[in-house]
Amino acid sequence: MIDKFLIQQQDFPIERDTGFFDTIFALSNGHFGTRGSREEAAFSHELADEGTFINGFYESELITYGETAFGYAKEHQTIQRVPNGKMQTLIYRDQVLGRDGEILEEERKLDLKKATYERTFIWSAAGIKVRIETRRMASFADPHLLLIETKLTNLSQAAESFQFKTCLGPEKTEADQVSDDPRKAQTRGDLHYEKLSEHFPLLETQTNRSRLAVVVGKKTTVKDEATEKQLTFDEANQTYEETFSFSLKPEETKVCQSAIYYGDFAPVTAHQAVSPAEIEKQLNQALNRFDNGFEEQAAHMSRFWEASGIELTGDDQLAQGLNFNLFHLYQAAGRDGQTNIAAKGLTGDGYEGHFFWDTEMYMLPFFIYTQPEIARQLLKYRHTILPQARERARELSIEKGAWFAWRTINGHEASAYYPAGTAQVHINGDIAYATQLYYETTKDETFMKTYGLELLIETARFWTSFGFFDEQDAFHITGVTGPDEYTVLVNNNYYTNRMAKNNLEAAFQYADKYWQQDGYQALFDHLEVKEEELAEWKKAAVNMKLLYDPDLKLTLQDEAALERKPWDLTTIPKENFPLLLHYHPVIIYQHQVSKQADTVLAEYLFPDTVSIEQQRRDYLYYEKITTHDSSLSRSIFGIMASRLGFQEKAYPYFNSTALMDLTDLQGNTKDGIHAANLGGTWLSMVYGFAGMTVKEEDLHFEPHLPEQWEKLAFSIQYRQKRFKVTITQEDVTVEKINV
Ligand code: BGC
Repeated sequence: MIDKFLIQQQDFPIERDTGFFDTIFALSNGHFGTRGSREEAAFSHELADEGTFINGFYESELITYGETAFGYAKEHQTIQRVPNGKMQTLIYRDQVLGRDGEILEEERKLDLKKATYERTFIWSAAGIKVRIETRRMASFADPHLLLIETKLTNLSQAAESFQFKTCLGPEKTEADQVSDDPRKAQTRGDLHYEKLSEHFPLLETQTNRSRLAVVVGKKTTVKDEATEKQLTFDEANQTYEETFSFSLKPEETKVCQSAIYYGDFAPVTAHQAVSPAEIEKQLNQALNRFDNGFEEQAAHMSRFWEASGIELTGDDQLAQGLNFNLFHLYQAAGRDGQTNIAAKGLTGDGYEGHFFWDTEMYMLPFFIYTQPEIARQLLKYRHTILPQARERARELSIEKGAWFAWRTINGHEASAYYPAGTAQVHINGDIAYATQLYYETTKDETFMKTYGLELLIETARFWTSFGFFDEQDAFHITGVTGPDEYTVLVNNNYYTNRMAKNNLEAAFQYADKYWQQDGYQALFDHLEVKEEELAEWKKAAVNMKLLYDPDLKLTLQDEAALERKPWDLTTIPKENFPLLLHYHPVIIYQHQVSKQADTVLAEYLFPDTVSIEQQRRDYLYYEKITTHDSSLSRSIFGIMASRLGFQEKAYPYFNSTALMDLTDLQGNTKDGIHAANLGGTWLSMVYGFAGMTVKEEDLHFEPHLPEQWEKLAFSIQYRQKRFKVTITQEDVTVEKINV
C-alpha cells in the first residue's frame, strides 16, 4: 500500500545514489534549504553533497570570455553553501559513526504532512549496538530555524559510555570542478568565516566579491543530567565542535536536540540586524519549546494541504507524486519580497540558484490560485529589481522601459551565453502575464497601484523600442530566442510575439483604466507616460506579426521554422539525449528540433485565439520535433493533449510530470529538484484534467478525467473567495468555502 504523504527510501530501486536521496529528502522554507543528507556524512571518508543554502545569498565572479562583445553579462552569480548545521556523530571508544562500524536496518522518509525528514537505524560498532532516531524540520513559522532531534538508545547488554559530537562549520565539498554540463553550478566561492561567540556556536560567513554577510548560530541540549559538555573551535576547519559525554544503560535513551539559526543576509558593510544575544535567546526559546515547533509545523502543513492540495483518487502512485511535487513547490518559494524561486528550489545549486521565467510561467499560477500572499511577494521581487532591468535596457540601446535579466539573483544578467540567455526577451512578457494573472485573480488594488501597473508599463515599453513597424505597419520582433533553446536568434518567434502582444494590450488596458483615477497620476508622471504612448502600445499589439503558413495550415514558430534541416528524432540513439550534452549548438540550431514547448505553449496560454483544429495540427507537428530535453516541456504537452482530445497522450505526459524527480527521469535529480515541473504538475491537474479556464470573469471547468481516476478535488481562491472543486466521472461540483 502506498502512503500518499510519505516518501520512503525503501520504496526506491536499490541503485539510486546518495545524491538523489539528498535532493528528494531536502527541506526548505523559502528562506533557507538543506539537503537530505545523513547527519554523520561529514565524518565519512566519502565527500557528500550536503548543501545548505540561503535563498539569494550568492557570490559573484567575473565571467571570463574567450571572445567578448559589448553588453555581455559581466558577472556570474552563484548561490553559496552556508555553514552546515547538520554535522553530528556518535563516538564509542575509537569508533566514529560515519567512518566506522555498520549501519543496519536504516529507514529514511520525508513526511509530507508534517514537513519533516525522519530516519531510524542501528549503528553497530566494536561489539555494541545503538538505535538512532532523528527528525528534522525547516520551520515555516520561523523561517530562520532548522530543528534536529536525535534519540540514542543503547541496545547492548551493558552500560556503555558515548560521546555525541555536533558541529557547525563550512560544508566539506569537493574542490571546484568544471563540468561540461551547463545545468550544474560552475563556481563555488572562497568564503570567509568569522567566529562570533566563545560560548555557543555562532559563525559569520562573508562572500568576497558580492560582499554579503550572514550569521548562522546553533544551540544543542542533551536531555537530563549526567552529561558533560565541551565546546571547542577548530581553527583549521573554522568549525565549532560541541561534545556531550554520557553513559547509557541497556535500553536507556538520550535525547539530543539542536536548533540552528540561519539569519537574513546583509551587505558586509551593514550591521547584522539581529545581535548575538538575540540569536541566542531565539535558539534557547526554540529548544525550550522543541516539540511545539514540530506540532506547529504539522498544523501549518494541514492548513497548506487544505488550501493547496489536490486529492486524486484512483491512482495512489500518481497521487503520491503529485503531493511530493506540491510539497517541494511550496518549500521552494521565497516569501520576503526580496527573493524568488530558484530553478532547483533550495535543494541544490544546479543552475546556480538562479531565478528564471520558470517562476512566472510555471509556478506562479499555483501560488496565485492557492497561496496569493506568496504570489504577491514573488512578483514584488520583480518590482524590486526594476532599477537593474531599466539600467540593462539603457545599456542595450532601449530608450524606455525595462529589460529583465534572463537569469539572475541580484537583478543583473548572469547568462554568459546570450543566444539562449539575454535573447530570450520573452521574459518581459512572462512577467507581465503573471502580473496580470495575479491582479485579475485577486483584484488586489494595492498591488496594482504599488507594483503591478509599473511592471506592466515598463515591460510594454521595451517592445515598442525593441521591435519595429514595417512599411505595411506590421510589428516585428527580430533576433530573439523563444522558449525553445534549440532554435535561437530568430525573427518573429510566435511565443515571444504573442506574449509581447498580450503585454502591450495589458499595459494599454490598465493605463487607460487608471488614467483619470485618483491616486495614479503620480505614477504616470513619474514614469513620464504620455497619451500618445498608449496609442503606440495598442497599435503594436493590434499589428503584431504572428506567423502562419497557409499551404501547410501550420502556425510557425519563427520565420525560418520550415527552412531548417529536418531531423528524424527516431534515428537518434537514446543515449544521445539530452541533445545539448552530445551535439555542438551549431548542429542543433541547423535542425528542425525543439527542446521544449514553444508554439504549443503559446496556444495553451491563449486558447481562444486559434481554432481547435488548428491547435491540433500544430500540436501534432511540434510534438514530432520536440525532444522534451527541458523539464518544462512535458507538462504543457500533457495539458494540451487533454484539451485537444488526445486523451491517450495526456496520461503518459502527466505520469512523467508527476513522477519526474521521484523516477529521476531527467537523470540529474541529484543536482536539485526540477522546480518548474513541480508547478507544471499543478497546471496539468487544474488547467489540463480539470479544464479550468476564466471566461468573462468567471471560472469554468471542462474536465477530461482519465477513466482510471475516480475523483479529483482541490481548492481555488478567486477574488477573495475560496471554492472547493470536486470532479468525478459523472459530475463536477463547485462549493464555496468559508475561511
Ligand atoms: C530550459 C529553460 C529554463 C531553464 C531553467 C532550461 O533547460 O530550457 O526554459 O528556464 O532550464 O529551468
